[in-house]
This record gives sequence, structure tokens and C-alpha cells, in this order.
Amino acid sequence: MVTIKSKAEIEKMREACKIAALAQKAVEEAIKPGISTWELDKIAENTMRNHGAIPAEKGYPSGIKGVPAFPGSICASVNDEVIHGIPSKKVILKEGDIISVDLVAFKDGFNGDCARTYTVGKVDKETQRLINITKQAFFEGIQYAKKGFRLGDICHAIGSYVESNGFSVVKEFQGHGIARQMHEDPGIPNYGKPGRGIRLEPGMTLAIEPMVIYGGDGILQLDDGWTIITEDGTNAAHYENTILITENEPEVLTLL
Ligand code: MG
Repeated sequence: MVTIKSKAEIEKMREACKIAALAQKAVEEAIKPGISTWELDKIAENTMRNHGAIPAEKGYPSGIKGVPAFPGSICASVNDEVIHGIPSKKVILKEGDIISVDLVAFKDGFNGDCARTYTVGKVDKETQRLINITKQAFFEGIQYAKKGFRLGDICHAIGSYVESNGFSVVKEFQGHGIARQMHEDPGIPNYGKPGRGIRLEPGMTLAIEPMVIYGGDGILQLDDGWTIITEDGTNAAHYENTILITENEPEVLTLL
């Protein structure tokens, strides 16, 4: 069921989302060659806790028998890792790497979710283009995140923009409604048909998250039961914000 949030609930969403954005900012400022993804995890966790929030990804159940809950406060996915990379002292960033950081702050009963792909020093041109297209795909999508449009309009805008730029969206994972639960209805694929799906109504809160890979190739899951990588070993990018549908333009809650 897709819920419509009250004014009071929206205020709580704003707060959780602001803290998630602050945690991203702290991570971004710390990224440099030589730092481990474990250190970035601690920076994000400390930022969230200092603002009275909890890192909601920590302890998130895998849903897979024999795979433990997620151990990190952030998902830290380096280079060909698409999503759900586990932070580690052994993963040290180096010049030319990219890292996708996905994190969720939980405060006062509500969640704020956002993801960014960062560069470590200078990266090659094509990788920078991948990152730019992924971010822009989010903004192409939210042009339709308005009263009067349907969910499929957002999905179609994201997918068609990515594909017209020669990349592919990951089809196995999708955005989602978000509020009291990290993942709520509706599911929001990064592809779809315009004019289809639920009607968008003010008070809906949605996490919209293009995950982009090079054309034609798929993804694989590592034996850790979490990390998703590209099948062909090429880089992947991710960009996500939690938004609020309003009477007018959407509000992006996880941008400072
Ligand atoms: Mg996320």
C-alpha cells in the first residue's frame, strides 16, 4: 500500500533525510586515495549518530538463508560493484577508483535514503560520463514526479534517458517507497511505460535510484550474498534521493 504522509510525518522525513545528506557530505569530504571503505563507514555512522539517527542499513536482513544481516552502516561499492558492497578495512581506495555510497538514516520512526557515486582523484572520461548520466537520469525522472503523472512516467524517463546515452539500467533492483520502513510500496523500476502505474499524489515519499551499467551486460552476486557486481567487470554508478510529491514541484529531501 502506498501511504500519504501527514504534515507531521513529512517533517520527520525531512529530518531523517537531512541527516542522510549530511552523512553523504562527510563521506564525500573524506574520500581520498589510501582511505578504506571501513573508515568511510565509521564516518557516516558517527555523523548519523551525532545527529540522533541510526544507520538503518546496519543489521538489515538479507532474506537469504545462511547469509547474515548487512554488517555495515553504508553500502560501499567500488568500481565494478553496483550496489550492496560491504565496507572493509581491506578495501583501500586508490586514484582512479569510483565508489558508490548508499546510506539510510533512521530517526524518530522515519527513514531517509540516498546514494552517490564519487570519484577518487581523476577518473577516465568514460567513467565520468557514466556517473554524470546516472545522476542526470534521476533529474530526468523527477520531472514527472508530480501530481497528475503516473509512476511509469518517472520509470520511463529514467530508462529512456540512460539508454539513449548508450548505457543500461539494472533491471533486477529498483527504487521504492520509503517512510517508516526503508522499503515500502511502490517498487520503482528504472524502466517502464509512460502512463502506467499508480497516480502520483502529494504526500507520497519515494526513493528514486538509477543504477547504471554499460550496455548489454548483466550483473552477478558475490558469494558474500550481498555484493552485486557487473558481469563484464566494467564500472557501475548509482544515484539516489528520497523525494516528496507535492502539489507542485517535487521536493528532494536528501539534498542539502
Ligand atoms: Mg539507498
